Parts: sequence; C-alpha cells; structure tokens
Amino acid sequence: MNALPSTGTPLLYDKCVEIASNLWWSWNPEAVNLFRDLDPVRWRKLDHNPIALLKEFTPELLEAKATELALHSRIHYAYRLLKQYENEKPQWARTHCGVLSAMPVAYFSLEFGVHESLPIYSGGLGVLAGDHIKSASNLGVPLVAVGLFYSQGYFKQHLDKNGWQQEEYINTKVENLPLTQALDKDGKPIQIEIETNTGVLYAKVRQLKVGRVRLLLLDTDVEGNSPEDRELTARLYGGDNRTRLRQEMVAGIGGVRALVAMGLTPSVWHLNEGHCVFATLELVRRRMEYEGFSFEDACIRIAEHTVFTTHTPVPAGHDRFHYNLMKEHLEPMCRKLGISIDYLMELGRDPHDPSGDPNGNFCSTVLGLKMARHVNAVSALHGRVSRRMWKHLFPEKKEHEVPIGHITNGVHLDSWCADQMKQLYDRSFERDWLHRIGEPGIWQEIYKVDPGVLWETHLLLKNMLITFARRRLARQIRFRGESETEAESMRTVLRPDALTIGFARRFATYKRATILFGDPDRLAKMLCSEERPVQLIFAGKAHPADVPGKDFIREISNMRHDPRFSEHIFFVEDYDINVARHMVHGVDVWLNTPRRPLEASGTSGQKAVLNGALNLSILDGWWAEAYDGENGFAIGKGTLHADAGIQFQQDAEYLYSVLENEVIPLYFDQDAHGIPRRWVQRMMNSIASLAWRFSADRMVADYVRESYLPSAGGMSCETIR
Ligand SMILES: *Cc1c(COP(=O)(O)O)cnc(C)c1O
Repeated sequence: MNALPSTGTPLLYDKCVEIASNLWWSWNPEAVNLFRDLDPVRWRKLDHNPIALLKEFTPELLEAKATELALHSRIHYAYRLLKQYENEKPQWARTHCGVLSAMPVAYFSLEFGVHESLPIYSGGLGVLAGDHIKSASNLGVPLVAVGLFYSQGYFKQHLDKNGWQQEEYINTKVENLPLTQALDKDGKPIQIEIETNTGVLYAKVRQLKVGRVRLLLLDTDVEGNSPEDRELTARLYGGDNRTRLRQEMVAGIGGVRALVAMGLTPSVWHLNEGHCVFATLELVRRRMEYEGFSFEDACIRIAEHTVFTTHTPVPAGHDRFHYNLMKEHLEPMCRKLGISIDYLMELGRDPHDPSGDPNGNFCSTVLGLKMARHVNAVSALHGRVSRRMWKHLFPEKKEHEVPIGHITNGVHLDSWCADQMKQLYDRSFERDWLHRIGEPGIWQEIYKVDPGVLWETHLLLKNMLITFARRRLARQIRFRGESETEAESMRTVLRPDALTIGFARRFATYKRATILFGDPDRLAKMLCSEERPVQLIFAGKAHPADVPGKDFIREISNMRHDPRFSEHIFFVEDYDINVARHMVHGVDVWLNTPRRPLEASGTSGQKAVLNGALNLSILDGWWAEAYDGENGFAIGKGTLHADAGIQFQQDAEYLYSVLENEVIPLYFDQDAHGIPRRWVQRMMNSIASLAWRFSADRMVADYVRESYLPSAGGMSCETIR
C-alpha cells in the first residue's frame, strides 16, 4: 500500500516526532488517531500531547507497538500527507494572494488557541486567532503569526465542594512542545531588547509550525531580566495593568523586532485589539530612521500597511494605561520618535474615557484606530456598534461614515467538524469540497443526504459526548473527595434520548449563563417531563478576578443538590478546546444568551453548525446576521432595553417560551423510526445556509481581498460597509 520502505527503527520514530512537530497533526484525523491508538489511556492523561506520548516510547518500543497494532503504513501515510502539505502551494493562494507571496502578512494576537496541549489562550479571541492562522495555512496565505509564550498559560479550573471556582496554574513542560528558538540571519538565537525608563526588558523568540504558518512566541524568561521580569510572560491575563503594558510592549515592539531580525519583510501588519498596537510605533521609528521620514509622514505610510481588528463592543473592555505607566515605559520610544510623552498620550486620548479623565489615560484602541487604514469589527452588528462607540473620535463624520467596517468571524472546519460528519459530507459532496468550503454551492448537497443517516450520525456523536461527560463528571467528584458512590452514580447520568442543550463559554456576566434559573418551577416542568426529557450541560471558566462570574458558576453547579435538577443539569469543569470540541460535536442545541449587543461575534455556535446542532440564540453577534427563521431558533426579536434588569426579564421570558413552544415540540415530533423529520430538515437548513458563511476560510478570504491586498499594495481605500 505504501511506497516508502521502512529502513530500520529510527525512521519510524523520527517520522512520528516530525508529525508531532507541526501542529498540523491536530486537525488531521490521520495523525490524531495514530497517536491515540498508540495508547488511548496515556493519550488522554497527557492532554493529547503527542511529544509527551512519544517520550514514553523508545524507538524499539514504538516499532514493536506499531507492529502489534499494524500501524506502519498509517505512520508512513500520515507522514507523507504532512510532507505533501508542507511542500505544496495551494491553488487558492496562487490565484488570490498576489503580492503577498513576496511579503507576507504579520498577524499579531496576545493569545492563540491552536490546541489544548498548548495553553496560551483563554477564550474566543485566542481560538479565533488559532482558526485564522490554520485557515490561512490551508489556503496558502503567506502569513507569520506573533504572540507571547505563557509558560503557565491560562489556569486549570476545579470547583470546590461549594461550587466555588479554584484556579490552578501549572508550569507547561516546554520540552514537550514542538518549540524551537528563532534564529537571526546569521543563525544565532534572537534576543530582543526593549528600553524603558526603569531598565531594559529582554525576550527570546520561540517558534512553532502551524501547518505552513510560523507562529513566533516571545518569552521574557531569559538571563539578564530581573526575576520579576522573567515571569512577565508567565501568565495570560494574570497580572496588573503594569504587567499588561509590559506584555504588550514585548508583543508589539518585540514582535516587530523579531520579524526584522529573522529577515522577514511583511507588507501587512494585522493587529488584533489594541493589545499589539505598540508595533506601529516601532514601525514608524524604523521608517524615520532608515528612510528619513518625519513622524507624521511615517505614520501615514505605516497606516497604509496596517489592519486593525477590534473585538470588543464595550468601552470598558479596551486597554487603558495611566500617564505614569506610559511615561515609565514609552518615554525612550518617544525620544526616538521625536515626540513628547504628552503627544503620545494625545494620540491615545479617548474623550469619552470611562474614568471621566480623558487626559489621564492612554487607550490603545484609539491609537489603533488612528494608525490603521483598514479597521474592522467582527460582525455586521458589531460594526454598527463600533461606529457608534467611536464616532466621537471622528467629529467631522456622520456615524455611517466612521471608517470601521466588518468582517464576520468564522471557524476552522478541520478543527471543529467531527470526523464522522466530515465522512458524511465526503460521501455526499463534490470531491474537492474540502478545498472549497467557503463556497455556498458546495453545502447545498446536504439536502441529498438521507435524513436517517444524518440523524444516526448525530446520535453517534451525542453518545460520544455523553460518555465523555460521564467520565469527566465522575473524575470531578473524585477530585473533590466526595463519596465513591456519588462518583459511580455518574456512570448512568445523561440520557441519549433527552433533548440535550449545551452552554459553554467564558463566564462573563453579560453572557447571562443563569438566565434559565429565574423561575425554577417552570424550568423543572420543562426539563423533567417523562415523555419529553431535557438536559443541560454547562461548562466555562470565570476570570480569576470576576466574583459575579464565579457566583454564576456556583449557582449552576449547585443545581445538582436540588433533586428536581440533579438528573438534568450538569457542569463539566475546566472548559478548554477539548471540552469545547466534545460539546459542539454532540449536543442537539447550542444555547447562547448574551445581553445584546455585547457579544461582538461569538464563534462557538458556528462550530456547532458544522456538526448539525441547532443554535438557540439571542439575535446578537454573528447570529443577528445568520438567523433566517428556518436554520435554528431565535430568542426574542433583537430588541434592547436601557435597563439591564428589564432586558434580562424579557429575554428570559422569550427563552422559556421558545423552548416550550418551538424547540421541545419540534424535537420530540419523531416518526415511527424515532427520526424527528422536521428537526433534521432544520439541521440541513442550518448546515446549508451557515457552514460556508461562517467558515474561517471565508473569513480569511475576505481579509485577503478587503484588507490584506489593498494594504500590501499601499492603496488607500476605506472599508466602509
Ligand atoms: C470557540 C471557543 C470560544 C469562543 O466561543 P464564544 O462563542 O465566543 O463563547 C471560547 N473558548 C473556547 C475553548 C472555544 O473553543
């Protein structure tokens, strides 16, 4: 079957190591299943980390195991797929990327959610960045990504006996990640220096391969730094505002210096949030130094090549740094730019600063809006909200003229679509569909699939979710030191025949996780019907400092003490990409209840679409432009109320009523074979109308066309839509 000869033991082992060394493996079942099959139990225990797994084998042991399990040809095959992938240039890039091939896009983000074994993300922003670079890799868009290496990452979540969130920070075993040191043009490890008034900050540059994309991660854990600075990049969202500012300088200024040191010459600088905006100052400085431009002229030129994406629809969610912090850190940079610190403060001055003192704070988003010619929000509604929110910065413009457009977020199909669903699509769609997932026509074929087959596939995935949840629920109980009987009882919870609703997201209070619990009697009536049982699975972390968010978690997890709900409401701890994957694969309904318009886009519901789950959501973020009456369910009519309490009451009423009158009756309207025909029709509507539109392939293609190419060419055109 395979043409490659096996020439002795090291080859096989080396091939496995090479597969594990490119995060490509994480979205390719040929590779994932290979590692899993080597030792399913250790695979799970090791957080699906293939390098850690391979360390438990010697080349000889691996050879023996491969023989025992007949894995040789699968290893050779996966290796060959990787090499093909690394070496080919996709057709899409050849016809669509133009000038980018000589000068790539530099994509900056403070978090990247690529895989659960690389914990350098906390939520939506990170997973989006991960999906963006994976789709860029698949499409062949020349792109290099820049972020920070957090040696402890984001925390692991446990709940104590009272349901209170405990945070555990674990040192990532760096030796178990496929990181290498980035080298300069002479082959020497790169060391970055950043000057501040209180000393120099040093950083090294780690890198890893995400398919065809290189991800650079700056890390301040180097000699020369004070012990405190060595820990500067240890935790994501772990420190105070000073830590934060210093992290942002390392990512932004350090990121540019790293790329330059590596000899890369990006033509587009894509900055996500204000977090990386100091990159623009370094770019301006370089233009002034090497090309002799004035500060103003250099700013204009840099702006032409800068793309800025804003992700946050509330003023308080944007970075703001006090004058003293800015002076301490950016005065040396200002000196090189020939501007005063007061002038820099002016560039980041938000007249509507929430503190009421616009002169005291520097808002990095404000600088981002000024320093980028292409600015976009992440959904159509978020675009409108952002234009209103920042209108005061453009007093001469009408609201619709504020130069903020939108490119709606999407998700990476290979990462989020279950294998079983992919195989179903594979059997029914055109042969090259995987290279054309951003095209609407491809997905119309779903209507030709036998409804019974689609339903069976869904049930299989639902059962896999139930197995996963039971295991995790039992494990949680043991970890808390509760009784073994209690843990054992988890073996039988969750019914495959119950309508299963999933809610998994960060526990920020605007997401209103507890909205269903205002009327427990009504809820009990809805969930506990014998003919039409309903169960809810929750997951999510609250930010360590977010006490109200932790209260929500406690309230939900303690529902298990109420006998009416103990068989119907479950909280799975430690939400991460792994938990998300299981949940979006297996639930019937994906619930989303943000306070409109505070969800900029949201992406988890898009992941659910790919697997046939139906969205039940407030008309906010992406759902406001996705819902068409037949492809899921809406909660309410997209109205707002100035009073959050009243809006909560209204939305809760809408939610109860759509569940009672639409969702539950439709689900349990099943034919003699147990197939809910009209429900399956809606699954098809959802897949046909949404999968392509909310794919990261479509999103990246939009960025290339609307932002990257115009920026690379230095053409000026505002993206107002
Ligand atoms: C997709 C994802 C998110 C973002 O989903 P939202 O819809 O924005 O809540 C957050 N965390 C994880 C682990 C995810 O996989």
